Amino acid sequence: MTVPAVSWPPHGQPWHPGLCWRCEADGVPVAWAGDIAAHGGHVALWLCDPCYRRWGELAWRHLQAHSRNP
Ligand SMILES: [Zn+2]
Repeated sequence: MTVPAVSWPPHGQPWHPGLCWRCEADGVPVAWAGDIAAHGGHVALWLCDPCYRRWGELAWRHLQAHSRNP
């Protein structure tokens, strides 16, 4: 089954040059993808375009695998 394209940047967020929190590329365009919980706090998750698309694929597969509606 084809993974549908994800909207990007998510939530209409603007691009900023910065560090991708997945591939650790620095100085690349990244956008806020949400907040994550770690070490007792919440931090913003910044992702570059390829990482956001990959993350979107994984999220889609997870949702398909755990969907209550066949
Ligand atoms: Zn990345």
